[in-house]
Amino acid sequence: MSALPKIAVAEAPDLFGSEQAALTAARAVLAGGGDYQRALGELAGHYERLLRESRRLVQRSDRAERSMNQLASQLAYRASHDALTGALNRAAVIEQANRCLAKQDTVLVVLDIDHFKQVNDSFGHPAGDAVIQSVVRCLRQLLGAQAVIGRVGGEEFSVVWPGLDLQQGMQLGERIRAAIAAGDCPPPLARPVTVSVGVSWSARGSTFEQAYSRADQALYRAKRGGRNAVCAAD
Ligand code: GH3
Ligand code: MG
Ligand code: MG
Repeated sequence: MSALPKIAVAEAPDLFGSEQAALTAARAVLAGGGDYQRALGELAGHYERLLRESRRLVQRSDRAERSMNQLASQLAYRASHDALTGALNRAAVIEQANRCLAKQDTVLVVLDIDHFKQVNDSFGHPAGDAVIQSVVRCLRQLLGAQAVIGRVGGEEFSVVWPGLDLQQGMQLGERIRAAIAAGDCPPPLARPVTVSVGVSWSARGSTFEQAYSRADQALYRAKRGGRNAVCAAD
């Protein structure tokens, strides 16, 4: 059997070959005497080049770190916010609500646009999207940037408000209902939509599921009662 041909393995070039050579020469001069000035000059030249390159590397790695941080916060935002409205998504609402409920009594307001299917059917899906966006805009204007406003379903939203009692929660629900019913949606609809609202009050230690299920039952009663109304959970 003939011997296998040998494969030439290229040695990786030493990135610091010339610096190493200058260092070796400088050490030789140190140990045995010789042309001090030349060895020192070469060493200084290489040292300056290394400094320049190190500065450039540090700047590049700072830039890379900044864009990684930006990317990470963009990803975190996308993971917790609804793309259409910028409101919190369902998972983020659940997390925020459970965090509030762990600390104090909390009101949960759930609202659903009335007869929304008719908006889509009459004006098209993009017009429906614009209505959804205008409802969230209205909630933000009414409640402020710090309010916990989420889109928990297609045309269903929720507001988490710690520290209120049920009566205050009902007042909040009524303010939300009235503000949405009073504001025109963008064209082509160019008239207000209405929402039905369910409000639940939950004692500290409850879970989002408990608070949501009771608010949802109240919302269902508001729908059955004729819509554009606010009902409290039992
Ligand atoms: P109700 O008063 O009982 O709430 O009636 P409704 O027509 O609002 O309720 P229904 O559940 O029958 O219809 C909700 C519609 O919302 C159906 C669905 O196609 C639409 N929808 C869900 N998500 C979106 C969305 O992101 N954009 C648009 N344009 N429509 C959506
Ligand atoms: Mg609806
Ligand atoms: Mg709905």
